[in-house]
Amino acid sequence: MIFGATGDLAKRKLFPSLYRLYQEGRLSERFAVIGVARRPLSNEEFQKNVKDSVLTALGEAGDISEFITHFYYHSHDVTDSSSYLSLKEMAQKLDTQYSLAGNRVFYLAMAPEFFGTIAEHLKMDGLTDVHGFKRLVIEKPFGHDLESAKQLNKQIRKAFSEDEIYRIDHYLGKEMVQNIEVIRFANAIFEPLWNNRYISNIQVTSSEVLGVEERGRYYETSGALRDMVQNHMLQMVALLAMEPPIRLTTDEIRSEKVKVLRAMRSFDGDMVNEFFIRGQYDKGVMDNEEVPAYREEPMVDPASNTETFVAGKLLIDNFRWAGVPFYIRTGKRMKTKSTKIVIQFKDIPMNLYYKPEQTLNPNLLVIHIQPEEGITLYLNAKKTGQHMNATPIKLNFSNKGVHGINTPEAYEKLLFDCMRGDATNFTHWDEVALSWSFVDKISEVWENTKAQNFPNYKSGTMGPKEADQLLEKDGFFWWPVT
Ligand code: NAD
Repeated sequence: MIFGATGDLAKRKLFPSLYRLYQEGRLSERFAVIGVARRPLSNEEFQKNVKDSVLTALGEAGDISEFITHFYYHSHDVTDSSSYLSLKEMAQKLDTQYSLAGNRVFYLAMAPEFFGTIAEHLKMDGLTDVHGFKRLVIEKPFGHDLESAKQLNKQIRKAFSEDEIYRIDHYLGKEMVQNIEVIRFANAIFEPLWNNRYISNIQVTSSEVLGVEERGRYYETSGALRDMVQNHMLQMVALLAMEPPIRLTTDEIRSEKVKVLRAMRSFDGDMVNEFFIRGQYDKGVMDNEEVPAYREEPMVDPASNTETFVAGKLLIDNFRWAGVPFYIRTGKRMKTKSTKIVIQFKDIPMNLYYKPEQTLNPNLLVIHIQPEEGITLYLNAKKTGQHMNATPIKLNFSNKGVHGINTPEAYEKLLFDCMRGDATNFTHWDEVALSWSFVDKISEVWENTKAQNFPNYKSGTMGPKEADQLLEKDGFFWWPVT
């Protein structure tokens, strides 16, 4: 059941992902999808919507006619108690028709204020009363702060146990985010160096070129800290910093990630502005076009204090990472759209190739998450010619180059994981709670002290100068790697 089946997420991601799974033979013939949304639609109209969205997303839809016959529609206001009973009847009928053995996945692709209500109704009206498995997939944001997240968790836990809850963080479905653990734990050359003796700092950047677009109303209550740092950025840091799990099971991996979040130093009061930088975009020129400032966007307060950019320095106080800064940075209307991780290794003890005009670059391992997917290792090698000069070289692995096809969309992988009952790439409640308690202390300071310098970065740049100074103070800079 997809709640919010006429929405943007369902159209752009969920239907095309289901279709791909179907094409690859990963969905059995015995499946049915009930789309739930407010608008009245017939099954045929809904099936046409599904077909159109697959065509728009994938550009082709060969054998789609059989696929769409599996889609049914239920017009339903999720706040109206009475319509859950007819939804239940429909589900029972389809269960028999397709011999589904009572296995159900409920996907909440709706505005977060409905998450708790829907979960409560599913239980109360008997939709979760099944012989097979029942799973709840829940979109972000999971709460607005720790308190509201706890409240939401309490509501959904009335109907589903922790291991039946699949909290989506779509970054965890990305090929190269999943690759972090393989690069680390399957290579003898990295894991021995993966600590404070050999790594000087780690930089995680997730930059967008788009502005807030039509999402002004939501974004005003969120900002970059809640929208990106609490979930995606901290999840990437946890994967980079965790200890090797004893096994690759859901519980073991999650428990190692939780330990990282517990070891993360928390900042409050004056320390917040020392370790974290906030920014808001001003107008600027991008792609030869003038774009408006955040405060001029629709549904945005003209004196808004909401941050569209965050940079921060994280410290993980454990044996492996003591003294190694993890710098994170994310924002809208930045120069490029890119998510990357740069691991900067320490300098060698003595540089035999020193020349006043040329210093040796440190070794860098770059993990390209999106839009390119791959790994680059920066080394120093001999410059061709008579002298023994060193010059930087790049070893490149590009995912697309090797496989020649697009890698599976994150949602496709996550939907498949959920159907198989593998929750490894979804966030556990303990991770959500720890991330919120870290982020809440920062929001508290920022909400109580209005930013005097907003807007403080031009659209089309890499953020405010304070974000550069954050690293300069430590003798580093953001690597402009490609
Ligand atoms: P949307 O506004 O496009 O769609 C909302 C859907 O909910 C529509 O189908 C609408 O009919 C339905 N709906 C609204 N009120 C209803 C009610 N009372 N009863 C029944 N149905 C109702 O939203 P969206 O962009 O698809 O986002 C859905 C969720 O996914 C949100 O939690 C969002 O944060 C999350 N999300 C979306 C994206 C994206 O790319 N769109 C990305 C990440 C996360």
